[in-house]
Amino acid sequence: MFPSLTSLNLEIERSVVRQRRISVLGATGSIGESTLDLIGRDPSSYQVIALTGGHNAARLAELAIRHRAELAVIADPEGYPVLRQALSGTGIEIGAGEAALLEAAGRPADWVMAAIVGAAGLKPTLEAVRQGSLTALANKECLVSAGDIFMAEVARAKATLLPVDSEHSAAMQVMAGARPERIEGICLTASGGPFRNWSLDAMRTARCEQALDHPNWSMGPKVTIDSATLMNKGLELLEAHHLFSLPAAKLDVLIHPQSIVHCLVYLSDGSVLAQMSCPDMRTPIAYSLAWPERMHAPTERLDLAALGTLSFEAPDFERFPALRLAREVLAAGGSAGTVLNAANEVAVEAFLGGKIGFLAIAALVEATLESSADLSARHRRSVEDVLAIDAEARAKARSLLKRFA
Ligand code: NDP
Repeated sequence: MFPSLTSLNLEIERSVVRQRRISVLGATGSIGESTLDLIGRDPSSYQVIALTGGHNAARLAELAIRHRAELAVIADPEGYPVLRQALSGTGIEIGAGEAALLEAAGRPADWVMAAIVGAAGLKPTLEAVRQGSLTALANKECLVSAGDIFMAEVARAKATLLPVDSEHSAAMQVMAGARPERIEGICLTASGGPFRNWSLDAMRTARCEQALDHPNWSMGPKVTIDSATLMNKGLELLEAHHLFSLPAAKLDVLIHPQSIVHCLVYLSDGSVLAQMSCPDMRTPIAYSLAWPERMHAPTERLDLAALGTLSFEAPDFERFPALRLAREVLAAGGSAGTVLNAANEVAVEAFLGGKIGFLAIAALVEATLESSADLSARHRRSVEDVLAIDAEARAKARSLLKRFA
């Protein structure tokens, strides 16, 4: 039977009302594209408010047209002419530069994906938090660099933060319902990256394309290099510390080459709870998008019989000193996380640009930390204070670069 016109109208009205208003900061990146892939499979459920990009204005324009965005903003002002030309006549608002980026992040929405890479995402992510939406947090550097200030702002805004990093999403899923004092610890798993079995000598001459060739995950360049050095897991320890208010003693890392178990939560009755899924970021993104419900994600299903073996090993801090450095920074607290993050961003950029070798990434971070004790100890009260420390740490790291060239 066909529905009557009135019931059809009602149905249409309801479906319009049900549409969730979503924005994606860092839409042109790996997480941004995966988020839009999920949204594009069910367009009637979502209204895309703002999409932002860093430098890739042409791709941003394509995404804005495809997802009928209200607003498209490119952070790099030089991208403005390309964006303007590509979106002319579409009715999509456009903007460029920092002020426009903050306006996009703060435009009212029900759900915002924060997926800008690096400390550049700090202010826009905070803007999203302040406008009161559910914020899906992919940008771990926000918490590494400014965790205390960031989480205070989340509390002040009474905002809800949904971790997107697969390990933290897993932790959130399996910790649900457990009282904090009953959690003895959580263990984040790491694939070990492309150099898991390489000797230090071999890693010394590792080429960029080898470091970018991650065995399990397809990700943007910065986080892929962080995965190869294991700095990524170190950043994630700091992220978990701030997200879940857990002390360093309750946070651990285990190498798990298959990337199937994402996190283990140890409880006071001896139970260990884990979350498993095939390595595809669309699973944790879908969890944050549907939270507190579940939705369909078009990902490969886990077939443990076909896989046969799941293996685990302790991390090697000698071959992967970045993980040791992050642990030390976690123990030190204060502004050391800001220095670590800034130095690491400089080091990864230098490695990607062919200026330093692979092992020099952690060495440069260590040298920057060693010569920035004053910065690490400096008290900060605001995001501006964090950004000032970040800028000084970057300058210090750049000044040390030639030592490692
Ligand atoms: P990508 O490099 O693929 O994408 C980064 C995004 O940020 C792009 O949209 C880029 O724009 C934008 N961007 C870069 N610089 C700026 C800037 N200065 N101002 C505004 N926007 C900028 O990174 P990923 O998607 O891989 O990672 C994003 C975040 O998510 C990172 O913090 C990462 O650690 C985290 N994460 C990623 C995972 C993954 O699987 N990829 C897994 C877990 C966490 P453009 O490309 O146009 O320059």
